Amino acid sequence: MDKTKAFSLTGEVALITGGGTGLGLSIARCMTASGAKVVITGRRENVLQEAVKEIGDAADYVVHDVTSASDSNSLIDTVVKRHGSVSILVNNAGINMKKPAIDTTEEEFLSILTTNVLGAHSLVRAAAPHMIERGRGSILFIASMASLFGIPGVVAYSAAKSGIVGMVRTLATELSPSGVRVNAIAPGWIETAMSRKAMEGDPARKAKIIGRTPMAKFGDPDDIGWAAVYLASPAAQFVSGVCLPVDGGVSIGF
Ligand code: NDP
Repeated sequence: MDKTKAFSLTGEVALITGGGTGLGLSIARCMTASGAKVVITGRRENVLQEAVKEIGDAADYVVHDVTSASDSNSLIDTVVKRHGSVSILVNNAGINMKKPAIDTTEEEFLSILTTNVLGAHSLVRAAAPHMIERGRGSILFIASMASLFGIPGVVAYSAAKSGIVGMVRTLATELSPSGVRVNAIAPGWIETAMSRKAMEGDPARKAKIIGRTPMAKFGDPDDIGWAAVYLASPAAQFVSGVCLPVDGGVSIGF
């Protein structure tokens, strides 16, 4: 490997779901800074337009709802037609819901699973054949601390994010022989609109998080962006099937 290009994504085309805001936007920024073209998706066109304007020429967008499985193939076809390939897929789009487990309805549970798990699987189904045909590719999922330990009030989200880690392991065993690596990042508490909303009016929860984080602070969205660059880059060419915590030590702290 050319050591000067170990962390370069030049020549790669990354599709990032939910790439218009928060962690997805940081992943898009870090990946373009590392040489990739990125295509960001989401349901709100104005948000995507703003993000593309900010990122610059290396970014493009497609309005897409991950819960609409019938649109997955056309999304991948659009990206391939416009940019020549999809070599990196980042399944980042996600929704959360805070509610005691005994009050969570089947409908609410299903909506979390549909967006976070089925939406991601549907895009893997559409994108992986292109990657297998080229003999290389990188698929990333955004897991959570809720994949690793119990967090009260997020039963559906925990089920979804734990499911993602299982899906990463299975996909890694099925796709790695074809040169397609599959990994996840488990972000700790990172400062974004989603986490700010989850923390709203709950100073005790905020204090608990800081108190059990060895680095005693919230993470920056770019911390996740750079981890995504690493996992998608040639430097990680022998890394498949892992869930990398980027969490200031929360997952090993006491
Ligand atoms: P945001 O709410 O900022 O981002 C979520 C993104 O997903 C939005 O851009 C949203 O766009 C998109 N999205 C939601 N539903 C759909 C859908 N049905 N189809 C397409 N896009 C959709 O939150 P974060 O950046 O914080 O979260 C990003 C990911 O990181 C999520 O998977 C989250 O679970 C995970 N995460 C975040 C942590 C944090 O501390 N922030 C910690 C651990 C995990 P739109 O509404 O326009 O569709």
